Amino acid sequence: MMVDKKKSNQQNPEPCRHYKNELSLLSEEKANEVVERSLKIYYVVETLRITDTFECKMNEFIEAHMFIIDQEVQEFLKKPKPNEDELTVESIYSGMAGVALLYNFYANKTQNNNKTLEAKVIIEKCLSILDENSDSITFLTGKSGIFVTATEIYRDLGDIENAKKMIKRVVDLMPLALNEKMPDVLLYGRAGYLYSLLFLKKLGWEDQKRDKLIRKVVTTIFKNGIQTCSKDKPRRTSLMYKCHNKKYLGAAQGLSGVIHCLLLAKSYLTKGELDDLIKPALDYLLTLRYKSGNLPASLCNDPDHLVQWCHGASGVSHTYVLAYKVFLDEKYLNAAVQFGDIVWQRGLLTKGYGLCHGVSGNSYTFMSLFQLTGNTKYLYRAARFIDWCLTTNRQNRVPDNPYSMFEGVAGVTYALMDAQDPKTANIPGF
Ligand SMILES: [Zn+2]
Repeated sequence: MMVDKKKSNQQNPEPCRHYKNELSLLSEEKANEVVERSLKIYYVVETLRITDTFECKMNEFIEAHMFIIDQEVQEFLKKPKPNEDELTVESIYSGMAGVALLYNFYANKTQNNNKTLEAKVIIEKCLSILDENSDSITFLTGKSGIFVTATEIYRDLGDIENAKKMIKRVVDLMPLALNEKMPDVLLYGRAGYLYSLLFLKKLGWEDQKRDKLIRKVVTTIFKNGIQTCSKDKPRRTSLMYKCHNKKYLGAAQGLSGVIHCLLLAKSYLTKGELDDLIKPALDYLLTLRYKSGNLPASLCNDPDHLVQWCHGASGVSHTYVLAYKVFLDEKYLNAAVQFGDIVWQRGLLTKGYGLCHGVSGNSYTFMSLFQLTGNTKYLYRAARFIDWCLTTNRQNRVPDNPYSMFEGVAGVTYALMDAQDPKTANIPGF
């Protein structure tokens, strides 16, 4: 049983950041027995379809969350157009563009066309109050995420003309993306813009210059990564990136997140870049692990506290899953599995349920390990974490943006719907 009680630690004055997962203490044999006995509560083992009972339980939450989010949407739509100095970027991460993304996802999952139309109204309001002078360009926190989501919504509605206009607006951000002041990391920089370009390609973006544009961004990311560590003595890595003057390592702001996006763009990389730049950086990251196996948030002697998508094992596991698919090196598979085990032990966060630093985000680590290995142990783990999110009152603070995609209920709702198709479930924006 998972115990709904904070682990106390007398020696450490820092409060523990996670609930104790007693299932992670079982012997392998016992744990396998539990999976065999209990997976069927969540999924029909033969087909991997969700069981009716679990689906009902989840849908009750999804509908309740959608109702609450809808109240926020109505308030948002009523707001008058802000003054010049109050313009915002209603981002995917923390703003209403994330809610538009959720509505369109809901529409596609439930074949509910009305929700696509509602998504269109939300994203158009986001576009109308957008700060055009903002230099934020990424998918998660910047303008490209709004334009890409609008592209998808227009495409789903068959409005190809407006979809094309949105694609152009993403491409028009290219000079900003190539500006030397722009950082490279996923949340705030070029890797997050690269993600948007790759997403457009998936949506059917055809342009003679498309591949050249993507390659330009890739080249700049490599150039900066080499430069940041070229003067290190001794030189331990082939690539490194700075964000807010700190060398972060995790998915959101760090080296592993940049590598992740470069691996997503692997058809644009040369063999030399894969073997001489990406691989040594992946190997270097593994040498930085704590004794526990977790990855530090940065190179600044951080304590071993964070096991979440943005910092630590949860996000990094995804990158080693991808690395294994590209390089077929067992070392990367073992690393992904080991990071996943840490999430199982320490991933029921007291901080909350969200995607970025919460339990629903951590459930995706198991989904990606399940998709790679086919081992139902990971499907069971994902289901346990999703099930955890269906019990309220387990978070010790309200998120900064409680209705948002990456910190709040919109993200949890997205993860609940996504878990109903475990073969395709994928954390948005990564
Ligand atoms: Zn976070």
